[in-house]
Amino acid sequence: MYRTISIPTDAQTDTAILMIYTGGTLGMVYDHTGSHLIPFDFSQLRERVPELNRFGFELTVIAFEKPIDSSNVTPEHWLTWARIIEEHYHQYDGFVILHGTDTMAYSASATSFLLENLNKPVVFTGSQLPIGAVRTDARENLMTALEIASARDESGQPVVPEVSIYFHGLLLRGNRAKKVESVHFDAFQSENYPILAEAGVTIDYNRSLILSSLADRTFSIATQMDDRVAILKLFPGISQVMVESTLQIPGLKGLVLETYGSGNAPATDWFINTLADAIQRGIFVFNVSQCNGGRVTQGRYSTSRRLAEIGVLSGSDITTEAAVTKLMYILGKYTLTDQIRQQLTIPLRGEMS
Ligand code: ASP
Repeated sequence: MYRTISIPTDAQTDTAILMIYTGGTLGMVYDHTGSHLIPFDFSQLRERVPELNRFGFELTVIAFEKPIDSSNVTPEHWLTWARIIEEHYHQYDGFVILHGTDTMAYSASATSFLLENLNKPVVFTGSQLPIGAVRTDARENLMTALEIASARDESGQPVVPEVSIYFHGLLLRGNRAKKVESVHFDAFQSENYPILAEAGVTIDYNRSLILSSLADRTFSIATQMDDRVAILKLFPGISQVMVESTLQIPGLKGLVLETYGSGNAPATDWFINTLADAIQRGIFVFNVSQCNGGRVTQGRYSTSRRLAEIGVLSGSDITTEAAVTKLMYILGKYTLTDQIRQQLTIPLRGEMS
């Protein structure tokens, strides 16, 4: 399924980084015709990125034989990558995951939940242009992600011991990031949480914003995700049959309800009654705003008061990407209603305020 490649570097320290290439634009080069993109052979990485030589750490690459366009990523892939990190956790000081940009924010969010008591950097990155393109952004993204994954503080501890996304000069918390751009290089933003670091001439870390080290806890991974979830985005004119049909999906366990502004939704009886019935049947409804910035405050307007009364859970300032993956993680881990409701509404990995 994947092959492990040791990349020769002039390692001067005992720091070792594992890079996992899952797929996406970054790992592509043009074929001999110059017009078709084909997967890049990672054993040639040093030739493509000669700067790697000057990094003073050991580098190993795990490259999936069939690179995955990130539109095809599923929870099974997240569990596989989490298992790879678990298997190599003690051998390596940091991890870089090369991933397509399209669903990177979902994968980084899911990974942040699956890796429990993480105390090492896991940096996702990718690129808008293939590594083989003249104006590629792949080299800079890759080199800086590696540098961040290997960064240590004065006492030898990792500087960023959490799941992050590095892209075009910005280091963002993985479960706070969103893909916001499909053409320009600045593809990711984190509207509700400040950037963890900015890479210019130097990499300036905002250390007080980075999750603190959990060195005293034992790292483990979750081994299940429950995909019986759905996302329902509200829009003016949404029909009763659409809302009812969504909530009647066989086996549905959790719903991310994308509401307006600070968590507002139609106050009409059919809408509230349909949601109340679903909650009574054991479906967890998680209220997430369609706005990228700001937060859900149920009860602020009369159009959200009734949601709180019937048991809709506030997602505060969580992104949709983090909300849907958090639901999958929590539903895969817990069975008791009170526990699920409580876990959904508290920050687990800094994904909400
Ligand atoms: N379609 C690609 C993917 O997400 C786009 C990219 O890599 O940026 O896999």
